[in-house]
Amino acid sequence: MDFTEEQINRYARHILLPEVGGEGQARLLNSRVLVVGAGGLGSPLLLYLAAAGVGTLGVVDDDTVDLTNLQRQIVHRTASVGRPKVDSAADTLAAINPDVRVVRHPVRLDPANAADLIADYDVVADGSDNFDTKFLLNDACYFAKKPLVGGALLRFAGQVYTFKAYETGDNPCYRCIFREPPPPDAVPSCAQAGVLGALCGIVGSTQATEVIKELLGIGESLAGSLLVIDALSTTFRKIRARRDPGCPLCGANPTILGLDGHGH
Ligand SMILES: [Zn+2]
Repeated sequence: MDFTEEQINRYARHILLPEVGGEGQARLLNSRVLVVGAGGLGSPLLLYLAAAGVGTLGVVDDDTVDLTNLQRQIVHRTASVGRPKVDSAADTLAAINPDVRVVRHPVRLDPANAADLIADYDVVADGSDNFDTKFLLNDACYFAKKPLVGGALLRFAGQVYTFKAYETGDNPCYRCIFREPPPPDAVPSCAQAGVLGALCGIVGSTQATEVIKELLGIGESLAGSLLVIDALSTTFRKIRARRDPGCPLCGANPTILGLDGHGH
């Protein structure tokens, strides 16, 4: 593809990188990433992926901007309180980079729409804040053979992971590690327990980095590892995560064969 003069300037610091170059930048501009949740993790994900020139960004969120969101959800502005998050995010992203097409999905991800939503995208980034969505995305991305770059946080603790369990080898999925959603109220939510706003930036920006690595096929994929972050002690630990042969999704004798079992 031929870059315009403006694009050569806009992406100059990427094009300088041997691992990206003009070819990689062109690939980003032709890439499609779905971001589920335009909240604490979705904000840095969307901001950095838009700035990087990822050509198509899908945003899934059925919520509106609330004043309590603004402490960490930096894609939204005070003037956007009350507006749909997909609209607020799309306006911010358009102002950052007009090269990017934002596709608004003002819906909640559910077992009936998940497969259709992710089908059009190259990589899925999970910025959701609940276990039902995380397990649903894990299963949907496994069946659709899409890389899933996820993140989670609570208080001062964060996690980042990439799952490509549809590939062979010792390559786990979310269920290999956590098996099934915890009972309701077993794990407090950020709304109940709080979260440090800037930690969302660390986790979401790390997710954005991993999404770009997956799109470009550069470096060492985070698949097969779990990055565990403790902001209070400033500790980043990369833990090996293994495939569980007994995993009900990606194991030797799977019992989850579709998305029908979700949502009960
Ligand atoms: Zn598994």
